[in-house]
Amino acid sequence: MNSETANPREIILIKTGELALKGLNRGTFEAILLKNLRHRLSGLGGFRFRKAQSTIYAEPLDSGIDMEEAARRVSEVFGIAAYSLARVTGKNMDDILEASADFLGGELNEAQTFKVEAKRSDKSFELKSPEICDIAGRYILDRFSHLKVDVHNPDAVVFIEIRDFGAYIHSRQHAGAGGMPVGSGGHAALLISGGIDSPVAGYMMAKRGISLSCIHFVSPPYTSERAELKVVSLLERVSRFAGHMELYLVPFTRIQEEIGRLCPEDLFTIIMRRFMMRISTILGERLECGALITGESVGQVASQTLPAISCTDAAAGMPVLRPLIGMDKDEIIAVSRKIGTFDISIQPYEDCCTIFTPRHPRTRPRLEMVLEAEAPLDADRLIEEAINGIRRRSI
Ligand code: ATP
Ligand code: MG
Repeated sequence: MNSETANPREIILIKTGELALKGLNRGTFEAILLKNLRHRLSGLGGFRFRKAQSTIYAEPLDSGIDMEEAARRVSEVFGIAAYSLARVTGKNMDDILEASADFLGGELNEAQTFKVEAKRSDKSFELKSPEICDIAGRYILDRFSHLKVDVHNPDAVVFIEIRDFGAYIHSRQHAGAGGMPVGSGGHAALLISGGIDSPVAGYMMAKRGISLSCIHFVSPPYTSERAELKVVSLLERVSRFAGHMELYLVPFTRIQEEIGRLCPEDLFTIIMRRFMMRISTILGERLECGALITGESVGQVASQTLPAISCTDAAAGMPVLRPLIGMDKDEIIAVSRKIGTFDISIQPYEDCCTIFTPRHPRTRPRLEMVLEAEAPLDADRLIEEAINGIRRRSI
């Protein structure tokens, strides 16, 4: 190992996924992935990244870095197909055998069966792969007498890789978060409520490489400070995957009150959502977003029927991405549990959508009808006021 490395004992081996298919863009994609990895691990201490044979090696530079936590963070970075935490040893069989038993001892104790796989990319190493497997297999059987070899379906696998920089010992690799590195797919504005769906929608688009700015509409005094903090906690979760983002808080009280005063009740929600789209488009253009993202799913609520979505869409000046559009609530909840937003989303709060909720919302609005209903509102002025009142928070 290199002498600059203060804590050379463990490193993370990272296999890139889909980005390997990107041909000419590969260099750019890898650069973005490295930047994201660096950012995600920076809070834990210094790391050095090295690339060889389609693997990225993340090496800690400081002693005492929590490598389990580093591996957990790596598992949340998009653009990674698989990763493993590996023990680094000298390139001689004594060290390799001792390190295998020590590093993977816990797992081997739990297992009934195992096998050894060896890979020798440094061809100057004195033993060939089958010989390494043979020696290591015997050694492990000797040290862990309860184990049996099973080459087809083992409980545990001991990987020994002899590379240029050293020998690496690791167990089966873990699946990475998949997707594309955040930032490789452009930038979009996520309309985030405090509900279950929109954080999942943001996660899904970040997975496709889109970096996020977030917009949340607040209606004080009808909505509380707690509702805003809830959105902040949701976004803190999402940002583990989606990276750094800014949250824009848009004052929406006056618009909702004016809609309540001047528009027919059965169209409140549609008209409100059209205002959200118009304001988000203006803000999105300023933030150089290529699209808006919402958590809508067909048929989930009255404002998510096809005619309602079509009226909402007509107010947006850029593409609206709705990654949850064909998902069942159960499927959405499964993702929200996986990314850790579910428990936050179900906390009670007052959302600006739940105040002024019509008793009988129209499920088949026609655009002409909606435009007519909106006509009495001084829309341009209301929108300008809302935009002037935007506050920003970093996540
Ligand atoms: P969610 O679970 O995301 O709240 P929902 O099923 O409750 O979604 P709606 O309340 O109709 O559906 O909202 C649809 C979408 O509109 C949300 O997914 C979100 O993208 C956006 N949205 C709703 N309320 C707000 C808000 N206060 N601020 C920003 N965007 C919002
Ligand atoms: Mg909602």
